[in-house]
This record gives sequence, structure tokens and C-alpha cells, in this order.
Amino acid sequence: MTGSRLRLRNNSNIAIIGGGPAGSFFANNAIQYAKKLGINIQITIFEAKDFSQRGPGGCNMSAAVIASTLHSKLIKDGIALPERIIRQEIKGYYFQTQEYGIELYKPELSDKSSILAVYRGNGPLYSVHMESHSFDDCLLRHVIEQGVNPVYEPVQELRLSSDIDTPATIIYGKSNSYKEMKADLVVGAFGVNSTIVNKIIALNFGYVPPETIKTCQIEIPLSAAFIKKSFNDNIHVFALGIKPFRFASMVPKGNYVTVSLVGTRDLTKKDLLNFVNHPVVRNKLPHDWEMPDKFCMCIPKITLSHAKKPFTDRLVIVGDASISRIFKNGIESAYITSQLAAQAAFEKGISSDDFDRHYYKPARKLLAMDNFLGTIILILSDFVTKQNWLVKARLSYVKSRKGSWIANHLNELLWNMVTGDAPYKKILIQGINPVFQIRLIPVTIKVLIKDIFEKITRFYGLKK
Ligand SMILES: Cc1cc2nc3c(=O)[nH]c(=O)nc-3n(C[C@H](O)[C@H](O)[C@H](O)COP(=O)(O)OP(=O)(O)OC[C@H]3O[C@@H](n4cnc5c(N)ncnc54)[C@H](O)[C@@H]3O)c2cc1C
Repeated sequence: MTGSRLRLRNNSNIAIIGGGPAGSFFANNAIQYAKKLGINIQITIFEAKDFSQRGPGGCNMSAAVIASTLHSKLIKDGIALPERIIRQEIKGYYFQTQEYGIELYKPELSDKSSILAVYRGNGPLYSVHMESHSFDDCLLRHVIEQGVNPVYEPVQELRLSSDIDTPATIIYGKSNSYKEMKADLVVGAFGVNSTIVNKIIALNFGYVPPETIKTCQIEIPLSAAFIKKSFNDNIHVFALGIKPFRFASMVPKGNYVTVSLVGTRDLTKKDLLNFVNHPVVRNKLPHDWEMPDKFCMCIPKITLSHAKKPFTDRLVIVGDASISRIFKNGIESAYITSQLAAQAAFEKGISSDDFDRHYYKPARKLLAMDNFLGTIILILSDFVTKQNWLVKARLSYVKSRKGSWIANHLNELLWNMVTGDAPYKKILIQGINPVFQIRLIPVTIKVLIKDIFEKITRFYGLKK
């Protein structure tokens, strides 16, 4: 089959399974391409969730930080986020270890876009507000306003014909009232928390979904004044060097703080309680704070690798269910894969070969290769954060020598690690920069000697 035979034409229709970011971004791109080519395309988005619901039922559970790089892409695409969606404009990051914490400063960037904290659904369970806070709903409404047809029902099954000239069939609806729809192209934007994944695997065209791990999140209600004072508009990122946590963050959002935890294994509610009761974390909360009786908590999956063969004739899979950068800006990865897939579909064709050459290969090059380096960096970073004396030495150096080349370099390295503003390749190059490593040697030796001396004096009880 060649790309020239299976193509989107005038009056073709596209069915998108999933109205999260990947689904809406694909639709947005498809609308632009159809306009450019002067063809009429019917686009239907199937979404199983009701984004007006509060809590996990109406939410695509995440820390929901919109990276400044994605924010600028949204502005460029004419997707304006209304004020009601932006819970907090984020000034920067506070990097917290067991013994030390510093405010990282934003490296000089020409771009003036901001980091934003939002809610994916309509805010936490038990929250009280009148207008919609849902970022995903806002993206979805943007494409609906441009003519996309939303169907708020789950897709149950997808049938692909062995005759490639026959369109695909979508079976959707709630139990006992299933309906069918024909589609020239099906876009799988169903993420990694959906049961439809098993139905897609069962189609036997070779799709292997990404490996995942269960994370844990909680929304902590606090007074807005306390959050402002304690968090100072910064996202607090924790490198406590304790098991099983690999990555932990507290994101201020007006009168709530979102705690997100990623571990080296599936996390549970018990891990979450251990984390919020850790003395360093308790320090960020009011001294008399107690876990509320009722709270909004979720255990979503996060990807650890990328999918194999997320495409076949008339089907392409985008977003988390396909390829995304591990632990970094998943929504922006959804933007990238959706853009590449739409470009392939409209400019080249919708056959398996078209998606392989013009979507999967470039997406792998951009995102998956970088994930390989990311895995190495995360292993190194896990090791380093367990060496408290070393972390403390380097962080106190950044603080005390702010403005020097070496402090700026280390700050930028940490900034890129926590924000994902730069690819892992750049982070690795920054980390192994020989000038940087050589100039760190005296700093490290000085602190190592001081650390050993302190241990000896403590041991002999000479310290007051
Ligand atoms: C703990 C955690 C923290 C994170 N923090 C961030 C962050 O701060 N910033 C960031 O950029 N990324 C973050 N991510 C990653 C981000 O959440 C994902 O990368 C992003 O949601 C992927 O978008 P998607 O559209 O591919 O999938 P999803 O957001 O999962 O959307 C899939 C949609 O498909 C719908 N759907 C599924 N099956 C069906 C069906 N059968 N029929 C109809 N509809 C269906 C679902 O209801 C859902 O709306 C985080 C992830 C986790 C787990």
C-alpha cells in the first residue's frame, strides 16, 4: 500500500477517541490542514468523561503544570486560556532536599510566556466555585467552536476491515444502547488510564502500549494567604533521597496545593501519607495542619516508555498512549505527537506506511531517543540526591555565588531538570561539561572535608 492511495479527501470523516489534550490538539491541527487544502472534513471527538465534574471523575489526573514552552505554542495557535482556567501563574521552582532548599531562578529566555498551574478537570472534589476550571474542557471547547462534533460517550470497540478501502467502524455508547459510526481515519487519543487499550491490542496489528507505573496525587486545601506566603508562587520540587520516591512536587493553585508523587514502584495512599508527614514536607504546611477527613486523591498511571507500532492503515495513536517524554511536560508531548500525526495524515496519507515514515519515525527521533538519555540522567540523579552532603554543597554554592558562571550553569541545569524546558540531551551535555565538572572539584572537596570534620566532632561529642 502506498501513501498516495489511502488519503483524506473532501467529505472524509475523522473519529477521535479521547477529548483530552492529544485529541483536541489533533482536531485543532486537522481543522487548520483541511482549511489549507480547501477540503471539508467532519471531525467527531468521543469523550467518556464529563469535565464539569469535580474530582477524579471529571479529570485527567495530573499536576497540571503548563510549561512555558507549551504556553507559547498555545498563544501562537490562538488558544487563549481565560483567567478562570489559570489557577496560578508560577514564578519559578524551589528545589528542596532533606537538609537544604533553594529558589531556582529562571535562566535568561527570550520568550516571555509563563508557567501556568491549572486543573485538568473542574477542580478538586469538595471544592466550591461557580465557573468551570477545566483546562481540558477549555481545549475541547476551542475545537468544538470551530465545528468539531463532540460525543460525550465512551468508545467500546474499534473494528478495522481487512479490506483497506473499507472505513473503520467505531462502536460507542453506554451499555445496552451501543451505536456505530464509520470513520475514514481513527485517531486514538485515549491516554494510558483507559480500558480501550486492551481492545486496541486485540486488533493484532502490533500495537504495544507504553509501560506505566502508578503515581499518587492529593489536593490539599489551605488558605490562599498561607499558600502565597509559604510557596511564594513557586512550585516546590523535592529530592529527599528517600524510597520509594523518585520525583515529588507541590504545586500552589490559589487555595489548594497539588501534591504529585512518582515512585520507583506503584505508589499507594500509604506512601502519600508517609510523604505528607515527612518533617521537610510538614514544614511547608501550617504547624497545626492535619489531614482532612475527606480529600481529593487519585492514582493515575504515568508512562515509562513509548508504544510500539501506534499506527496501522486508517488508525493513528497519539499522546500518552503513543510517545511522550518521561516525567516531563506530557501535555506538550501530546501537542507534538498530534501535530506530527495530523501533518502525516493530511500531507502524506493515512496508510500504515505513511504513519510509520512520516509520524512514528520523526516522533521517536524527537521524543523517544531523548527518553533513553532521560533514563540515564534519572538514575544518576537518584544516586546524587541520596548524597546529602554533595547536594547541600552544590546548592549552597548556587545560592552564595549567584551570578557567577558556575552558579548560573548549575542553576540552569537544575532548572532544566525540574521544568523539562530543555531536552534530556542538553541536560546531559550541561551535566558533563568538563569546565563545569573541573570547577566543581574544589567546591566538592571543601564541603567533603567540612562534612567529615563535622561527623568526627559529633562522634566524639565535641560539638556543643
Ligand atoms: C502524576 C502525574 C503528573 C503529571 N503532571 C504533568 C504536568 O504537570 N504537566 C504536563 O504537561 N503533564 C503532566 N503529566 C502528564 C499528562 O497528564 C499526560 O501526558 C497528558 O494527560 C496526556 O494527554 P492525552 O490526551 O494523551 O491523555 P489523557 O489526558 O489521559 O486523555 C485521554 C482522554 O481520553 C478519554 N478516553 C479514554 N478512553 C476513552 C474511550 N474509550 N472513549 C472515549 N473517551 C475515552 C479520557 O476520558 C481522557 O479524557 C502528569 C501525569 C501524571 C500521572
